[in-house]
This record gives sequence, C-alpha cells and structure tokens, in this order.
Amino acid sequence: MTTKTTTTATNNLPSWVESANDATCDFPIQNLPLGIFRRRGSGDEPRVAVAIGDQVLDVQACVEARILPDLSPEAACALSATTLNGFMAQGRACWAGTRAALTRLLAADTPTLRDDPALRDRCLVSMTDADMLLPATIGDYTDFYASVHHATNVGSMFRPDNPLLPNYKHLPVGYHGRSSSIVPSGTPVRRPHGQLRPDDAAPPVFGPSRLLDYEMEMAVFVGPGNDQGGRVAMSDALDHIFGMVILNDWSARDVQKWEYQPLGPFNAKNFATTVSPWVVTLDALEPYRVGAPPRGPDDPPVLEYLQPAGNAAYDITVEVYLASQQMRDAGTEPVRLSRGNFTDMYWTVAQMLVHHASTGCNLRPGDLLASGTVSGPTEESRGSMLELSWRGQNPIELPDGTQRTFLADGDEVTFRAFCEKPGAPRIGFGDCRGVILPAV
Ligand code: CA
Repeated sequence: MTTKTTTTATNNLPSWVESANDATCDFPIQNLPLGIFRRRGSGDEPRVAVAIGDQVLDVQACVEARILPDLSPEAACALSATTLNGFMAQGRACWAGTRAALTRLLAADTPTLRDDPALRDRCLVSMTDADMLLPATIGDYTDFYASVHHATNVGSMFRPDNPLLPNYKHLPVGYHGRSSSIVPSGTPVRRPHGQLRPDDAAPPVFGPSRLLDYEMEMAVFVGPGNDQGGRVAMSDALDHIFGMVILNDWSARDVQKWEYQPLGPFNAKNFATTVSPWVVTLDALEPYRVGAPPRGPDDPPVLEYLQPAGNAAYDITVEVYLASQQMRDAGTEPVRLSRGNFTDMYWTVAQMLVHHASTGCNLRPGDLLASGTVSGPTEESRGSMLELSWRGQNPIELPDGTQRTFLADGDEVTFRAFCEKPGAPRIGFGDCRGVILPAV
C-alpha cells in the first residue's frame, strides 16, 4: 500500500503538461493510469502508454531514450511489451517504483522532457492521435453481482415475494464470462441475434434482440496471480489487484430471460463487453479507499475467509450518458441517465477476488473481474435500463422527443467514473463508450 505521506506529498504537485493541471481533468499527475496504444494510422506494434492531461506518454520511447533512470530492469522490460500482462505480473513494489519514476519525469520542475522539444515529440502523443487498444490479453473474465440494490431490484421484478436468493449475503455471486468479445471503448456493438420467447404461451423464435441493455460496472485487472490449489488471504487481496477500469456488460434481456435457468447467463452476455482503456492503479485510488458499508443488523455474519482485512471499498462516482443518433446529428449533448457510487456495493473487490480463488482456482495476471451492475438505493443510481425503466414499464424521455425502455439502434452509451473529495486530487477513468449497430 502507498503510504499516506507519499500521497500527501504529491497532492498539489503540478505537471509541465499544462492540460494535466486543469481541476476538471481526468488524468492529473496524481493519476497516471496505464494503457496500450498505437499512433493513429501508423501500423506500429502496440505500446505501453500513460495518460497525462490530454496527452499520451509513450513509455517505451521513454525507456529507449533512457530518461527513466530509476526504473528497475524488470519494469523497463515489462513496459516495452505490447500488452500490460507482464507489468501486471510484477507486483506492487515494481508498480510503485514505476509510478514514482513517471511522477518525477512529468513533474513541473523536471526539465528532461519539458525543455527538450525533439525528445518530447518522440515521447508525447496527443490523445486525439492515439488509438487505444485493450490494456491486456484477458485470459479469463468473470462477472460478479455485488450490488445488493441491483440484485434486489432485478429479483423483485421476477420474484416479488423473494427478491434475494438465500446465498446472496453469504458469498459474492458471479459467473464465468467470455473474454474473446471484450473490446476497448469506442468499438461499435452489433445488436445480437438470439433465441427469444416474447410470448410465454408460444414456442421461442430466433431473431434480433429487442431488449438490449447496458450494465454500468467497474472491473479490476488481476496483478500477480495465485498458484492452482492455493488460495488468497483477505490481508493479501489488494496485492493481487493491479488496477481498475469501467466496464459495460451489454445484455440482451430477452435472450437472458429465456436461457438463464438453470446455469445463468450465456448468449445474453457473450457478444460484447466494453472496457475503458486506461487502467487506474490502486496506488492512484488510494486516497479514495474507504470502508465498505456496514452489513445490516439482520444480515448473516460473513464467514472468516471473507472477513474484511482493512478498507477495500473505493469511493468512485459512476455516471451513464446516452445520445441517440438523432441527438448526435442535431449536436445535442448526451443526456445523463444515472449517477451512482461504487461504495454502494455489498461485496468489495477484495472479497470477490478471495472468493474466486478460494477453491484453489488460479487467477492470472490480466484476468478481469467485473463487479456487477453498480446500482444504489435511489432511482437516480440505477445502473441498467432494465431498472431505470422498471422492465419497460416507465419509459425514459430523451431530449430528441423519443422514449426508451431499452436501447435503440444508433444509441451511443457512455459511462464515466471519477473520484473527488476536498483535499485530494480529482482523478478520472476516461470514457467507456459504444454505439449500437443494427442487427444483420
Ligand atoms: Ca453484469
């Protein structure tokens, strides 16, 4: 864990990258999220990048120019790869050393790049000239169901008398997802076909999903893994987490409704999952690490292997925006559909990881664990259209005069997430965005 002293010392540190000093910027010098990029139109091999203001720092170019002298040889090697898997495998000490080296390079009083225009041209790329790729090769993807508000909302639509199943408050429920169809923000999403049963009295039909939805989630990338047959202790859980991204678990509700029993989601969720490209590290999130909400007085005690070992919830505001094709054509700003907070989850990312590995299941660097839909106790904080429109009963009015109960072709869904509080630097995650293409 980053010490409090370190965090405080860098709180007010400006960067010579002017755009990073804007108080509303997602990527100040205190954030330094990592990603994988390619210069637009270059055909280059993918390279490791760090976001700073509205710029992308080409980390491999910095390594090659020998302007990160404090970097360990292991870090320099891992940061010259085409994915972040190798760097994720290095562990907390290596990540912290790299973060310190990058902070020094980008600090306002460090002249190395600041005063060398030719070198700066080699190492800095405007975000508008960078294509962001997936941060890692994702071997395995798991999706949890950690918001009790989401589980209760959805459960009460289908089981009004018994919304929460008996296991919910004993273990973080999840399912193994599909990694091949995870795409970076900005990739269009094709409306899926599926087997649907719109009339419960008639046989199912095959055709385009009519009830396409999003799910606003956060997700963690696994750092160092665990050996098969071993487990992870709660006290070590955060050392196995590299960082966090925003995730959209696109969901075909009509496919889901017909297929989900008895084994859970399958085709309803395997056609596309979108992630934001910048991985915000736990070191950057440290000022926003808080205790999980207390369990209710009637909640069952949590079994010992899942008992919290320190704070492991994160105070992250999450927002969902929608812009129809018509709104974008008319230049209308996207409308905000919801705003919630990641602290409203019943289970923490540490508990999800520990439970996942508790059988001896081996997690590997670059595995992705998603939280489940982030919904809070209020209507405004509902993280899916299923909940916002309450299964289609309460249509949502858009600024273009149309209504939505689920997503229409041409709709662009954008998720944003950020942390802010007095006395700490605001940090953000960038966008997690996708447009719905018509079925073919
Ligand atoms: Ca989900």
